[in-house]
Amino acid sequence: MRLTFLILCFSLATTITATAEKPDKNSTIAPHQNSDFQSGVVLTFDDRYIDQWVQQIPLFKKYNSHVTFFVDHFHTLKPAQIEELKKLQAAGHAIGCHGVKHRKAVDYVRDHGIDQYLKDEIDPAVKLMTDAGLKPTAFAYPSSSRNTEIDQALLKTFRHLRGGTGLTPNQRMRDLKSIFVSVDQIKNTSSLIGTGIDYAGTEKRPDYLVQIKDAMDHTKQRGEIVIFYAHNISDKGPGHHLSPKALEEILAHAQQINLPTLTYDDLP
Ligand SMILES: [Zn+2]
Repeated sequence: MRLTFLILCFSLATTITATAEKPDKNSTIAPHQNSDFQSGVVLTFDDRYIDQWVQQIPLFKKYNSHVTFFVDHFHTLKPAQIEELKKLQAAGHAIGCHGVKHRKAVDYVRDHGIDQYLKDEIDPAVKLMTDAGLKPTAFAYPSSSRNTEIDQALLKTFRHLRGGTGLTPNQRMRDLKSIFVSVDQIKNTSSLIGTGIDYAGTEKRPDYLVQIKDAMDHTKQRGEIVIFYAHNISDKGPGHHLSPKALEEILAHAQQINLPTLTYDDLP
């Protein structure tokens, strides 16, 4: 009898502990990819090109690819655009936060302090998105403006962050160390750095598709995750854009080398 009681107490305690310690990371949408991945490519798209993004659902589906869309100015979206974001989410993509008004974090924190930054630029967006059924678990810094102090404050709200970096002239993308990260590193840092891939394969960046594919080969060989960002998915804009054709080449290459495309929600 006493033993039974002890066993009961023990299992109850274990259950309570497991529940109490369950990190927020586990309470988000279940990963749709194989969760034991070592390498992968994280494709992200920023701002509000929702009407164009939603048109690419069949293309992503064709390659079993899943990506993350970081949205700003959520309070200005039309109901139809919120429905489109839900369609993207239902198709396995992740929706992240890109700020209330796309403010540069470092400038705003310098001028108004971190608390005011959270109050003005983060909290209202998270609340509106959550109320709409699109709870964001990740944040992308507008204009890649970030520092470690702001990272720490934001990681109380988000599981992961994304900053950015660019290539210097004649630098190869595979040599851009900060955009490659191991799964173990992600568990420790949660603040990831991507590089821009808009205009890949156009006159503006004619060699970029080769560079991107080479960076993907590199990440596969090293067993790491590589992070990219773009904006509109379109041939002509508006705004910074990646053509659907270039996007398809990237997705096809990922499939060819067996490199999973991961959303922010898939990451540990
Ligand atoms: Zn942006």
